[in-house]
Amino acid sequence: MGKKVKAYIRMVYEVDFNSWTIKLKNKKCPRCGSIMAHHMKPVERWHCGKCGYTEFVSQKKR
Ligand SMILES: [Zn+2]
Repeated sequence: MGKKVKAYIRMVYEVDFNSWTIKLKNKKCPRCGSIMAHHMKPVERWHCGKCGYTEFVSQKKR
């Protein structure tokens, strides 16, 4: 059970705990088409390491 879930997560995500980066493999950059990295800190956003394109997930007003 646990092995299957772990394998699935590794298939879909690539997590870097040092920089809080999650690479979701089905999110692609609209500019260059490469896989984008998901950042949670300081704000949730998608970032393309190739061309530098950044897409903010939530822009909540306080
Ligand atoms: Zn890009």
